[in-house]
Amino acid sequence: MAYADPEAGRAADRERFRKRTAARVAQGLCPRCGERPPAPERSLCGPCNDKRNAASRARDARLRAEGKPRRDPVREREYERERSRREAEARRAAGLCTRCGRQPAALGRSSCEPCLEKRRAADRARYAAGKAAGLPYGGANADAKRRAGRAKSRRRQKARKDAGLCIRCGKRPPVEGGTTCTPCRQKRQAAEQRNYAARRAAGCCTRCGEPVFEGLSRCRPCALADDAGRSPERKNARSRQRYAERRARGLCTACGAPSQGASRCPTCAEKSYHGSGYFRGIPVWDPRWTVIELDTGKEHGPFDSAADVALCLAFEKLDRDRVEVLSDASPMASLTAWG
Ligand SMILES: [Zn+2]
Ligand SMILES: [Zn+2]
Ligand SMILES: [Zn+2]
Ligand SMILES: [Zn+2]
Ligand SMILES: [Zn+2]
Repeated sequence: MAYADPEAGRAADRERFRKRTAARVAQGLCPRCGERPPAPERSLCGPCNDKRNAASRARDARLRAEGKPRRDPVREREYERERSRREAEARRAAGLCTRCGRQPAALGRSSCEPCLEKRRAADRARYAAGKAAGLPYGGANADAKRRAGRAKSRRRQKARKDAGLCIRCGKRPPVEGGTTCTPCRQKRQAAEQRNYAARRAAGCCTRCGEPVFEGLSRCRPCALADDAGRSPERKNARSRQRYAERRARGLCTACGAPSQGASRCPTCAEKSYHGSGYFRGIPVWDPRWTVIELDTGKEHGPFDSAADVALCLAFEKLDRDRVEVLSDASPMASLTAWG
């Protein structure tokens, strides 16, 4: 039959071929010749299989002679993926190990116990080799490992939180309104301070440890990230409340001793004054600042610029109404709400 449109002709051919194949298969005949039934476990009859194999070999030889791959590597990969997916699916449905297909899968797993052990041994060997070569995470995909680690620690923290325990040690109950116990909190703060000081001294970003331009305490990306993260929601409600309570009851906001209405008792006030650059007799060219945490009395600094004070507040996650900032230029101008 002749078609004016070659595309319509090809479509009609394909349809006729499909119908003929379906009819032969329905009759239990080889779809290629329609004369004999297919060979056992095959879809074509014996002679048709031989013919097709010979044709494949001839084509392979021709491609080899031309220096071309015998198959389309992309299509081959796709086919193999699809084939192994079907195979795994069938094994899973039969309750068999999806790896070997010979033994039943272990309880709650998709592989049998021998296959699991084989894989664990291979993982251990690869990790050991990677570690010996000095690769992080033994050469495994670091991103994936970090992601998995973060997910695991999130699960552990949630379990501890639900059990009413400190999310860091899981041994003691957390401080009221917090998530960690007092020893863990102190340990973390000490580590952060050590880290901050070491990075500052080395001229590195105090957040990520990358080198920074001289004098700056954070690199630009970290500074931007911190500024974006500093929001009223992050304020520590508990310490603000304690500060307000002590202030209202006429107690020192740092130690809780009676202070006759002043924000700090004479001892605490003197302590922070002694800590300031003014007391140490540093010549006054430019003012320097010291940050004092009102609820712990802990001091930070001195800092050379107002910007560094802001960075310290951001890094220590301090709220401006929880700190006193002393300037050695005018020691009397200590503000409870610096800004
Ligand atoms: Zn045939
Ligand atoms: Zn297996
Ligand atoms: Zn703890
Ligand atoms: Zn940084
Ligand atoms: Zn005090």
